[in-house]
Amino acid sequence: MIELVLAEACIACDKCIDVCPTSVFDRSESGVPEISRHSDCQTCFMCEAYCPTDALYVHPESTPLPDPRIIDRQHVGRYREKLGWGRGREPGARLAIGPELPKGQLPPRLSR
Ligand code: SF4
Ligand code: SF4
Repeated sequence: MIELVLAEACIACDKCIDVCPTSVFDRSESGVPEISRHSDCQTCFMCEAYCPTDALYVHPESTPLPDPRIIDRQHVGRYREKLGWGRGREPGARLAIGPELPKGQLPPRLSR
C-alpha cells in the first residue's frame, strides 16, 4: 500500500497521479500529490515505478502501516530501482533469475 510521498524529492510532475488506476492521489496546491484515498490503493506499485525522482514508497503489505515514519528511507524508490527504470540503471530483465530450463527433448505437443 502506498505509504510515503517525499515532498523534498517530488518535482510535481503528476505521473503518479496519472498512472494510479484507482485515483488514490489528489493534486495539491504545492504540486506534491496528496494520498487522499489510501484505502483505495491496490498495492500495484505503478506510482513508485513511474516516479522519476524516487519520491514514493509502496509497502508490499496491502494494509496500512501503523506509522509510516518507521520506513527506512533507503527503501523509498527501491521497486523502481530493481525494475531498472531510470537513467543509468541496469534493466531488471537482464538481472532476473528464473528456474533453469529443462534440457533434452521438448515435451510432446498436446493435440485435440
Ligand atoms: S500502488 Fe497502485 S493503486 Fe496504490 S497508489 Fe500507487 S498506483 Fe495507486
Ligand atoms: S511521480 Fe514522483 S515526482 Fe512526480 S508528482 Fe508523483 S511523487 Fe512527485
